[in-house]
Amino acid sequence: LSERVPLPENQDELYELSTSINGLLDRIEAAMEREKQFTSDASHELRTPLAALRGTLEILIRKQRNVEDYEEKINYSLSEVDRMSVIVEQLLFLARNDQQQSHQKQHRVPIAVLIDETLSRFQKELKRKQIKVSLEADESGDYILPYYYGNVILENIVGNAIKYSYENTTLSIRLENSMGECHCFIRDEGLGIKDTDLAQVFIPFFRSDALGHREIQGSGLGLSIVQKAVNAIGAKIAIRSKQGEWTEVHLRFVRQASAGV
Ligand code: ADP
Repeated sequence: LSERVPLPENQDELYELSTSINGLLDRIEAAMEREKQFTSDASHELRTPLAALRGTLEILIRKQRNVEDYEEKINYSLSEVDRMSVIVEQLLFLARNDQQQSHQKQHRVPIAVLIDETLSRFQKELKRKQIKVSLEADESGDYILPYYYGNVILENIVGNAIKYSYENTTLSIRLENSMGECHCFIRDEGLGIKDTDLAQVFIPFFRSDALGHREIQGSGLGLSIVQKAVNAIGAKIAIRSKQGEWTEVHLRFVRQASAGV
């Protein structure tokens, strides 16, 4: 920001300068509009479970109830509190400026180890939905990734793949080395994403309203978080899908991509 634009010397240069200033103002305005939208979506997302919680507590205090009733309402309240805690954690991740390189963020592990760890954390859900895992890895399984960001990326993508999968299906994870880069493909057989939604899945709070999606719990923040983590380590992400059939996330890690993180 310390650089200054040279002063224009003639009409043409003045015209050019005005055009680029206007372009800049448009971009600032669009960014401010996105911020505003984000804040209003975030408030809405927290206000809804808070209102539900308040309603439940009010009912409980109004008159004496039997133990089962208390238990049921308190359990419901606890799950709402948990849901809000997840949203607050996700919002903090998105809002935080991760310039500092904490010790935790420098810890690195091979991608194959991260995938194993992630899958074992989802063991219960995989079993419940009877999802088989097919894992294929060549030597790029040795690709070293910063643990902190790698974990954020895989946790959200594998979590989505399982959430939106049909029962009795296969979750395929493939690691491939191509021209010195590590490619990771995570493919599920499930609801899929319709073409018109594909471009929007990285927008904070976006959730598809296609059949089946809204019955599955989520905040619409997972993929925005993935995008931020992917950018932080200089990786790339692309999603392909066939609605009602499958979704495939393609992650591309450049060798030494983690330099500087
Ligand atoms: P959410 O918490 O809603 O899952 P995400 O940001 O992770 O939020 O994803 C945004 C939306 O993209 C989801 O609501 C869902 O509609 C769609 N989506 C993401 N991953 C998948 C997938 N593997 N299969 C089908 N739809 C998906």
